[in-house]
Amino acid sequence: MFENLSERLGGVFDRLTKQGALSEEDVKTALREVRVALLEADVSLPVAREFIKKVQSKATGSAVTKSITPGQQVVKIVHDALIDTLRGEGEPGDLKIDNPPAAILMVGLQGSGKTTTTGKLAKRLAGREGKKVLMASLDIYRPAAMEQLAILGAQVGVDTLPIVAGETAVQIAKRAKQQATLGGYDVYMLDTAGRLQIDETLMQEVEDVRDAVEPRETLLVVDGLTGQVAVEVAEEFDGKIGISGVVLTRMDGDGRGGAALSMRAVTGKPIKFVGSGEKMDALETFEPERIAGRILG
Ligand code: GDP
Repeated sequence: MFENLSERLGGVFDRLTKQGALSEEDVKTALREVRVALLEADVSLPVAREFIKKVQSKATGSAVTKSITPGQQVVKIVHDALIDTLRGEGEPGDLKIDNPPAAILMVGLQGSGKTTTTGKLAKRLAGREGKKVLMASLDIYRPAAMEQLAILGAQVGVDTLPIVAGETAVQIAKRAKQQATLGGYDVYMLDTAGRLQIDETLMQEVEDVRDAVEPRETLLVVDGLTGQVAVEVAEEFDGKIGISGVVLTRMDGDGRGGAALSMRAVTGKPIKFVGSGEKMDALETFEPERIAGRILG
């Protein structure tokens, strides 16, 4: 089991406070513990380093060193700084989908949970927000993926674009746009094809689709359990396609959530939603407080 950061810092400060007032060196010792905790939570090393630098000056302030509970003070400073880094601009679950029909492009690697998330988000938009939603699968390589989206659509009561064999991804995207316009839809969601790894053909195809529909939102779906890999995937997609936000899936698993911090720090893009299970209602608005708590253990 991971040791809880508060307990761990408590131990360090207990040792230190016995010596009287805390020195800058003592705070450094404590922050080394914070760094270990971050790394254990799967935060990448450069991000953990940068983060420690950020909290260092706050933690060496006299309020901490003179405090009788310096451990708790440092935990609070670290906690607040985590939330600060995790919180993007705007409200986490907000999507720019005014001016109908608005395209939402769903991108990511195969197996990340992209199709499932498309269904979940469609359900949320149609239900909670009362939008008229159309979904279309652009996965021309895997007919089963197209079927999967159609099944999810039927399950959540959201329309899917009829499947037509032999079309390119761009042709399907354009047909979805046309149908969304003619049918008076507020939103059309495009579930792009994933690959096991990023490759040129995949990126080019997504770029072509992006240029054809000019999506209002481009959401990258990544497996939150893959840690550093998820961050590399996000950098790559953001560099090539330009993403507007991230959905972290499998946050119901036992990962510590460090990927979320690295993701925010590296890409600067907001995490908008979190997938918390396989069911269609297991999609939550991203809450920085929860992830911060989880990272700190
Ligand atoms: P895609 O290839 O990216 O479209 O991935 P899928 O949407 O087909 O999902 C792959 C698997 O992950 C399926 O079995 C989903 O039920 C599962 N999955 C997706 N999101 C989550 C999540 O947030 N939590 C859990 N536990 N499983 C998920």
